[in-house]
Amino acid sequence: MAIEQRTTRQKEAIKAVLAEQEHPLLPDEILTLALRGVPSLGIATVYRTLKTLQEEGQVCCVEIPGQAPRYERADKGHHHHFHCRKCHAVFDLEKCVEGLKKLVPAGFRVTDHEITLHGLCKSCT
Ligand SMILES: [Zn+2]
Ligand SMILES: [Zn+2]
Repeated sequence: MAIEQRTTRQKEAIKAVLAEQEHPLLPDEILTLALRGVPSLGIATVYRTLKTLQEEGQVCCVEIPGQAPRYERADKGHHHHFHCRKCHAVFDLEKCVEGLKKLVPAGFRVTDHEITLHGLCKSCT
């Protein structure tokens, strides 16, 4: 198979994994799930493809302090994450917080925000 074709297949497999998962994934988790479609895939290719997809604006990096970076598709819309302190799973939260603008002093303008909630997930409580 031509290199270009192979690159496209690998990219599509990684995009398909991110499209079907409703929470951010570690590169290792992406690899495990994508191997079903492209058995020859390796971790170096996953990292390289994620970098390309990020540059193209198709994938976002989710950084939680003390955690390895996770990845999710960029078209999900505004949302936040919940990080389990025990099993370290990360979940998507659909809602946002009201009244954040009231936190800043007069004359300040909020352009964006990031919120991560930490605690115990349902399986760990
Ligand atoms: Zn948990
Ligand atoms: Zn928000």
